[in-house]
Amino acid sequence: MDTDTLDAALAEAWIRALAAAVAEHRQELIDLDSAIGDGDHGSNLDRGFTAVLAALDAARPTGAGAVLGRTGTTLVSTVGGASGPLYGSAFRAIGAALPQDPATPAQFAEALAAGLAAVRRLGAAQPGDKTIVDAYTPALAAFERAVAGGAGLAGAASAAADAAEEGMRATVALQARKGRASYLGPRSVGHQDPGATSTALLFRTLADVTRERRPAG
Ligand code: ADP
Ligand code: MG
Repeated sequence: MDTDTLDAALAEAWIRALAAAVAEHRQELIDLDSAIGDGDHGSNLDRGFTAVLAALDAARPTGAGAVLGRTGTTLVSTVGGASGPLYGSAFRAIGAALPQDPATPAQFAEALAAGLAAVRRLGAAQPGDKTIVDAYTPALAAFERAVAGGAGLAGAASAAADAAEEGMRATVALQARKGRASYLGPRSVGHQDPGATSTALLFRTLADVTRERRPAG
């Protein structure tokens, strides 16, 4: 049997690792958002993921889709600012796109694509606008390419994390055209986007947990 799948335990491990990464990088996200926004990105996400952990502890959802959907619903209801609805919608869409449990790497790629589509539907950002989209778009492309080439979850997630970090670093040179940072106009150039940075954490933690769970053999 193919054990290289996303099940509820792996989905929960991902979300717990992401919550820990958000807490660990809270100040860095605050500092990045202080430079070109209002300085709340780290506290917004930390509050949201703390609530997500409580929600997962209160009622353990069965199925990866339910874990990720619960994550999204909780983020929408607990995070103010642009990032709560954006990440919340992404996780809700990812969860809704995973009716099959456990999900194969190809099914998970489709779910991640649904997550990006939700972000773009809600935020209307194009690649190059210096947002979450600038890390998520290359990460998804790398994940899809890796799966098409026969990679498992861990290989695809590792490629996605590398691409997300590259996209994150590339936001430094961009001028913001969406969100608060766009108010700065050209003065937003020269700073790394906070949302692209948290998106890189999202894919890096996915790479970490899938590598740890990689099936033997
Ligand atoms: P707020 O801007 O309301 O204070 P946060 O500070 O939590 O919210 O999040 C800021 C991040 O949200 C930005 O760095 C950017 O990546 C992301 N963002 C803002 N607007 C959009 C949008 N329309 N589409 C995608 N991402 C966006
Ligand atoms: Mg902010």
